[in-house]
Amino acid sequence: MKQGCISEETKLTVERVAEADLPTQIGDFKIAGYRSLTSDEEFVALYKGELDRDTPTLVRIHSQCLTGDVFGSIKCDCGPQLHRAMRLIEAEGRGVVVYQQQEGRGIGIINKIRAYALQDEGADTVEANERLGFAVDARNYHQCAEILLDLGLCKLKVMSNNPKKLEALKDFGLQVVERVPMEVESREPAADYLRVKKEKMGHLLNSGRNNPK
Ligand SMILES: [Zn+2]
Repeated sequence: MKQGCISEETKLTVERVAEADLPTQIGDFKIAGYRSLTSDEEFVALYKGELDRDTPTLVRIHSQCLTGDVFGSIKCDCGPQLHRAMRLIEAEGRGVVVYQQQEGRGIGIINKIRAYALQDEGADTVEANERLGFAVDARNYHQCAEILLDLGLCKLKVMSNNPKKLEALKDFGLQVVERVPMEVESREPAADYLRVKKEKMGHLLNSGRNNPK
């Protein structure tokens, strides 16, 4: 086994419990359901193509956003980012989206709606979370990284603007060989949201492709 990715001794804290084909409007994918062995959290991996440790592979860790992914909210860029990731994977014929159900950057849908109510009164996304007593970003990506290992990956082309996601994957021994920026067209409310993500949360927006070491 090469250094840095999964070895015989790696003990995963997630297990793959079900797998099926999933034809979509964007293309034909496979879908796998994972369960955490340490909490009641569930994950989904949407993937296609031959996945192996030597081929740099497109991946996205996508955090559930009911409002954006399902209802097409234009308060954020989540839905377009998810669909763009699926289209890039379809075009390349290979890749993985790990969908983690940490709604609202980990605070849950009800609290996210509370935060939206504060935003209706003028708070930005960071101020709203702080006023509700939540961390600005309560997500962690540890088990998402494990899912990528379980699927056999090692070298990643990460579709993300979020430096924390890149760091989490590297901390777990995965190799980030490229970052694929995920800037999508955004309408007014999302443009404000993206400005806050860039200025207060360090997201890498309005920049070209780069290759983090
Ligand atoms: Zn969203």
